[in-house]
Amino acid sequence: MELGLAGKVALVAASSRGLGRATAQALLDEGADVIINARHAEELTRVAEEMAARSAAQVLPIVADLSVASDVERLVREAMGAFGRVDVLVTNAGGPPPGTVADLTDEQWHSACELTLMSVVRLVAGVLPGMRERGWGRIINMTSISVKQPLPDLVLSNAIRAGVVGYAKTLATEVAADGVTVNNVCPGYTLTDRVSALAKARAEAQGIAASDVMATWEASIPAQRLGQPEELASLIAFLASERAAYVTGTTIQVDGGFVQSLL
Ligand code: NAD
Repeated sequence: MELGLAGKVALVAASSRGLGRATAQALLDEGADVIINARHAEELTRVAEEMAARSAAQVLPIVADLSVASDVERLVREAMGAFGRVDVLVTNAGGPPPGTVADLTDEQWHSACELTLMSVVRLVAGVLPGMRERGWGRIINMTSISVKQPLPDLVLSNAIRAGVVGYAKTLATEVAADGVTVNNVCPGYTLTDRVSALAKARAEAQGIAASDVMATWEASIPAQRLGQPEELASLIAFLASERAAYVTGTTIQVDGGFVQSLL
């Protein structure tokens, strides 16, 4: 299927690893120029070089901490300065830390809101005016299956990502007539560094091996396995495409059948 992404400019936030990196790679493979981002210059530069080495399209690394408002503004400014526009925005960030309702401080709630909700609001604020002017744009928010089925020990994710979905649905309605679509994707358990770290933390808390935690997760997924980052990235590439022009306001999981709700 021709996705019509060649020559588009995509900004993928938090993309030196995991789901963000796989997404940037998928868009690059479709011919889009891609801006990648993370906090650590050395790793980000290495990743950009690896990606650019096997692509004709451009890869621009921009170091920025998505939980800092001035960094997000600079990220968008530098992306616009380099390419003149952003056609596709994929919002993403590191996941908020695990914790139960009883564990968390106000400070942790504030930090998680800055990272998980306000980074989306600020990235969108930066790119949306140009998308509306040009009458074409794609905004895809990386959320989690927690927006459909809250996960134990992840109250920050459960609560704040629901806010992202409410924001995105409102935005989708406001900008649909301008040719801008807004959708959320929900990874289920997917093999990335974050998931390995979560398994390790849970294993330590329970005094068992990380492989046993992974095995429990696999058993809870109808597909009986964790996902690969590329499986989520393929959905994002489709949502970013010309073909997906009439898909907006949706929240779609890629989870091997984990979520048990009907919608
Ligand atoms: P990961 O830890 O493998 O990668 C996270 C990326 O974000 C890295 O590139 C890291 O450098 C970057 N990053 C982290 N904090 C940042 C910040 N403040 N500013 C800029 N960049 C930052 O994580 P992942 O598994 O790819 O997850 C990505 C998102 O998807 C997370 O929010 C995670 O909670 C969510 N998610 C993941 C899964 C899963 O199974 N992997 C499931 C549901 C939701």
